[in-house]
Amino acid sequence: MDKQTLKIVIILISIVLSTGFAQTDKATNRVDHMTYAQAKARIPDHPLPDFWIGDVKGLASRFEHLEQGRLTVLATTPGGRPIYMVTYGDRETVAHKANFNSAIGGQDPAAYMDKAARKKPVILFLGPVHGHEVEGLTGLVNLVQIMETGKDLRGKSQEKLRQLGGQCRLLILPAGNPDGTARFEPRSLTGMGDDDLRFWGQGTWTDDTFCDWPQCKRQHPMVGDNVRFLGCYFNDRGINPMHDEFFAPMGPESAALLKVAREEGPDLAVSLHSHESKPAALRPAYVTTEIQQDIRSLAKECYALLSERQLPFGGLFEVRPEGGKNPDSFNLTSALYHVCGAGSFTFECPHGIRGNCEVTLDQILDIQLSLYEAMLQHEIGKKH
Ligand SMILES: [Zn+2]
Repeated sequence: MDKQTLKIVIILISIVLSTGFAQTDKATNRVDHMTYAQAKARIPDHPLPDFWIGDVKGLASRFEHLEQGRLTVLATTPGGRPIYMVTYGDRETVAHKANFNSAIGGQDPAAYMDKAARKKPVILFLGPVHGHEVEGLTGLVNLVQIMETGKDLRGKSQEKLRQLGGQCRLLILPAGNPDGTARFEPRSLTGMGDDDLRFWGQGTWTDDTFCDWPQCKRQHPMVGDNVRFLGCYFNDRGINPMHDEFFAPMGPESAALLKVAREEGPDLAVSLHSHESKPAALRPAYVTTEIQQDIRSLAKECYALLSERQLPFGGLFEVRPEGGKNPDSFNLTSALYHVCGAGSFTFECPHGIRGNCEVTLDQILDIQLSLYEAMLQHEIGKKH
C-alpha cells in the first residue's frame, strides 16, 4: 500500500469510527445517542427492595383490600391503564356556589368553596405525571400503607405521619401517568447515569439521538415518524400531562386530575417529580404572590425537617412576578391553582443519579415522607 492509499484508508477508518462510535461528547463526556438495546443492557440486574414501587403493575391488587381508604378509578389512559385515587377522611359538604375564577371575579373565594367551614384541610398528592419519576409513586404507595397500618412498606413505624393524616382529607393519586411508568423498565434510576435518565425520561429520535431538553418540549404530542423510543414523560399517545392543553385536554390524565381538584377544592396540592439534584419545592408560576409566599414558607419547613433528618435539600425560590425572555410555562401546577385555588406546587426529588445527589432508595423514601409530613403540618397549623 503506497502512502496515498494508506492516508485514504486511515481517513476512511476514522470516518467509520466517528459515525459508528462517536457517542461521546468529549467536552462533557456525555453520550449523545443510545439505542433501546443499549439502554436495556445498562439496567443493573440487582433486585429492588419490596418497599420500592417502580411499576404500576400490582397496584390493583395492592389497593383491592383497603380497610381505611376508599379507591376510585378516575379514568383510563390511552394504554388502557386505570388512574387510581385513594382517599382518606370523609368529604365535608360546604357551600359551593360558583366556579373558582367567577368567585375570584366576585371578590369572594368562599363562593367557590367555603374552605374555612371545613374542619379538616384537604390535601391532594399527585404521583408522577412523568412516568419514570417513580420516587413519588413509591412515596405515595408507602403513604397509603401508613394510613392503613401505621407502618411504611419497610415495616418502620410512622405513627406520627398517620396521626397527622387522620386530621386531614387526603386525595392520593399514586400514578399520574401510568402509561409512562409502564414504559420505564429500570424501575429506579438510583446509581445509573445522566444518560440513562435522558433516554428513559425524554426518549430518542429515529437516529437514536436523545430528544433532550428543551427539544423534547418543542414537539407535542410526541408522535410522528421522527420518534423512536417514546420517553416516559409521555402517555401512550405522546401527551406530557405537565403540558397538556388544559382548556381542551388532549389526554385523560390532566383532565381527571383537574376534575377532582375542581370538585374537592383542596387547600394544598403537590405534583411529585424527580430530577438529578437535591430535593426542591419549585416556585409555582402564574399564581398570586401570596400563594408563592405560602409555598415558600412550606418549603422552608420541609427543608428544616430534611436537615434535621440529615437528608439533602436544595435552595429556596424567590417570590416574583412572571416575565423575562423565557417566562415559565403555565403548566399543570398552575392549572391546578386556577381551578380550585389550592396552594399548588411541584416538588422535585433526587433520583439518586451517579455523580449528582447520590441518595439511596431508603433516603428517597424518607425524603418523600418528610415532604408529606411538612405539608400536613403546614395545613393543620392553619386550622388552629
Ligand atoms: Zn418531571
